[in-house]
Amino acid sequence: MRLEVDNDFTNKSIQKCYMCENIATSQEHVPPKCLFPEQKDTRGIDFRKNLIKIPSCDIHNMSKSDDDEFLMLSLSGIITNNIIGQFHFLTKSNRAIQRKSKDFISKQILKNLKVVDLKISEKQFKPAAIGHPNIERLNSCFEHIAYGLYYHEYNTRFEGEIKIFYGFLEYTDQYFQTLKKFIKKRFDIDDELKLPKKGDNNLVFNYEFQKPDNFGLFSVKLVFYGTTEIFISFKPENVKEPVDLAMMLMKNGIKTIINLDNERFEFN
Ligand SMILES: [Zn+2]
Repeated sequence: MRLEVDNDFTNKSIQKCYMCENIATSQEHVPPKCLFPEQKDTRGIDFRKNLIKIPSCDIHNMSKSDDDEFLMLSLSGIITNNIIGQFHFLTKSNRAIQRKSKDFISKQILKNLKVVDLKISEKQFKPAAIGHPNIERLNSCFEHIAYGLYYHEYNTRFEGEIKIFYGFLEYTDQYFQTLKKFIKKRFDIDDELKLPKKGDNNLVFNYEFQKPDNFGLFSVKLVFYGTTEIFISFKPENVKEPVDLAMMLMKNGIKTIINLDNERFEFN
């Protein structure tokens, strides 16, 4: 007797999780579905066209935890968001906040919360909440999103290291503040490496992967609600980090000045 394994069958019916070796048991949305306005709020305008779904095991399905809602509340309330972000904050996010205890925002989303009048133009001020975001939890959310988008893009699981930079945060540490601006600039001027921008609900979310550079390193830029940017760099397992003199000087606290496209970045 000969036992034949139908490869085609196995490949199609058994999918592995986007984050680990486990067999997938469900599909997960990346980014989470709740970030996209529902038609009941938008009078029928569809902001949920072709949402991205990837296979996930039980452990890595974020929507089974309340991280989705945390992310929605963290991102939709950002003051510089486009009108869709502001609208989403006033509808779905606001309903979610109403269901929570009074101090939910100051405990879970923005610690040391203060309400200030923020100057948004020469004559205009707007009340805004400022505080310290829950970076650890944001990192966990964006790690899932990074792995998920990679899986969606390349149909395989990413193995290596990722680093996350929040373009929308003002870092109190000057070094991170400059590094953030530097990474953003480097991404924006590296046109040759950019792959086409993707995302069928552009006003809510879009992303742009870079092709790997000479070292095999690459990044992805995520944009939520038109303006809220997150940069994630990927270092695949088989890639050695290049010995970058400037980076070494910067990390060691030595004053380093880098000029990029006529802009001066001064570290330390
Ligand atoms: Zn998993």
